[in-house]
Amino acid sequence: MQKLNGKTALVTGSSRGIGRAVAERLAAEGATVIVHYASNDAAAKETVEAIRTRGGRAAAVRAELGTEGDVDALFGALDGQGLDILVNNAAIGGGSIEDTTPESFDRVFAVNVKAPFFIIQRALPLMRDGGRIVNISSADTRIALAHELAYSMTKGAINVMSRTLANAVGDRGITVNTVAPGPTRTDMTAWLFATQGMEEATAAGAALGRVGEPADIADVVAFLASDDARWITGNLIDATGGMFLG
Ligand code: NDP
Repeated sequence: MQKLNGKTALVTGSSRGIGRAVAERLAAEGATVIVHYASNDAAAKETVEAIRTRGGRAAAVRAELGTEGDVDALFGALDGQGLDILVNNAAIGGGSIEDTTPESFDRVFAVNVKAPFFIIQRALPLMRDGGRIVNISSADTRIALAHELAYSMTKGAINVMSRTLANAVGDRGITVNTVAPGPTRTDMTAWLFATQGMEEATAAGAALGRVGEPADIADVVAFLASDDARWITGNLIDATGGMFLG
C-alpha cells in the first residue's frame, strides 16, 4: 500500500545525496515530488527521471538558496501549488573557529538556517492541515567536531526552530520533526571516506558498525511524512546507527 497517495512534497536539495533518496522514497509512496536543487541540472534531471521510470510523479525546480531572492524564486516556480510535505534538506558545510570568515559564516547561515526558516514561512499558507515538515539536522549537534563548528551551529539552530515551530503549528495538525543523520555516504562526505582508513574508523564508532547510506535516512523521513507518525511532533530522531553511544 502506498502511504502518500495524493500528497505533494517539496524536498530541498534533492538532486543528489540524502535529498535524492528522500525524493525517490516519497515518490515510491505515491507522493508527487518537487525536486529542488541549486545548479546541477543533470543531477536534478536524473532524480526526476528515476522517479518517473518507476511510475512516480516529479518535477524539478531550480533556486540557489543563500542568494538574494532565493525563496521568492523557489515559490515563484511553485506558482501557489498546495503542499502536504516539506523536507528542508539542502545545506552546505562550514568550518572551524580558525578558518571561518565573516563572509563564509554568513553564507553557511544563509543556506542552512535563513533559507529553511523563510521556506517554512512561505510554505505554511500553502500547506494543507495535517501537513508534515521534516528538517534535516546533523549528529554534529551532539558530537563535538571542531572542524565543523560553524556548520554544527547552523544545525543547532535547526533543532531549536523545529521544536519551537512544532508548538506553533500543532493546532493545524501539522507536525514538525528533525532528523539528525550521522556520517552518510554522499558527495558531502566523499572526501572523508576517500581518506585512507576513515570509512572503517567511522563505522567503528557506530553501534551498528557501518556508515550510513542515503536510504537509511530517507526511510526515517518517509515514516515522519506518513500518517503513521501523526502523534510525533517536536522530536529529534538520531539516525546514526548509534554513533558514539559510549
Ligand atoms: P550533498 O552535498 O550530497 O547534496 C546537497 C544537495 O543540496 C544537492 O541537491 C544540492 O544541489 C543542494 N544544495 C546545496 N547547496 C545549495 C544551495 N545553496 N541552494 C540550493 N540547493 C543547494 O548533501 P548530503 O546529501 O550529504 O546532505 C543532505 C543533508 O543532510 C544536509 O542538510 C546535510 O547537512 C545533512 N547531513 C549530511 C550528512 C552526511 O554525512 N552526508 C551527515 C549529517 C547531516 P545541486 O545538486 O544543484 O548542487
